[in-house]
Amino acid sequence: MVGTNGGTPAGAAVTTEADDQEQSLAEILERLRREPALRSWVLGAPTGALASLGITLDDHEISALLDQVEEMDHRPLPVTAQDIMSTEPITVTPQTTIHEAAELLAEHRISGLPVCDYRDALVGVLSEYDLIARSGKTVGDIMSRDVVSVPTSATLETVRALFVSRRLKRVPVVGEDGRLAGLISRADLVRELAYRWACTRCGYVVRAKRAPEGCPKCGSARPFEAAQPEPAVSACPTCGRPLEH
Ligand SMILES: [Zn+2]
Repeated sequence: MVGTNGGTPAGAAVTTEADDQEQSLAEILERLRREPALRSWVLGAPTGALASLGITLDDHEISALLDQVEEMDHRPLPVTAQDIMSTEPITVTPQTTIHEAAELLAEHRISGLPVCDYRDALVGVLSEYDLIARSGKTVGDIMSRDVVSVPTSATLETVRALFVSRRLKRVPVVGEDGRLAGLISRADLVRELAYRWACTRCGYVVRAKRAPEGCPKCGSARPFEAAQPEPAVSACPTCGRPLEH
């Protein structure tokens, strides 16, 4: 940890500096609780943002602080594909050998991968099934080219209905620039169920890791409880045809 008041000789006022920093950390956490814009600034570029607030932390301390800040962050529903996707998923190219692709699936214990060309555009999906059922030398020989993907702006409801109607295990998320932006798995959707909280007074539903301390809508303190589950997906999101369960 490095002090921010540059004039102090190293070692001379270590305890005081640490105390000062602890004090200002508590104040900053309190400010972050009240100011969502400040929160997203710190979450976006933590090192620079914290330095300009007078806080210098090492990597470990920054990641611990970010966890705390993230827990404060809650947003109104609906959430979009952008909010729930894993960013920077593992990908392969059509030129990747089948052996290499099989190694990646086994090593990372995943059942499928997006296939991207050299410009990061999504060109296919490779699943365990493709590896077992088809033969070839490269991913391009055996991948499925008929890929279901969603834009970053797709709502959670649309994504969920798509998983159900097409019995998907994962869906790639494509950005406005046409590049692969992320990947949504069934596990990502399950996690969303744990992140939903409803205000017991006004019914306002938010997405957050932990129950928020106060309702941003009605002002009630500590009123949140686990939200009611969403109604079952009953129709195909594209054709509207009723689904069987
Ligand atoms: Zn409320």
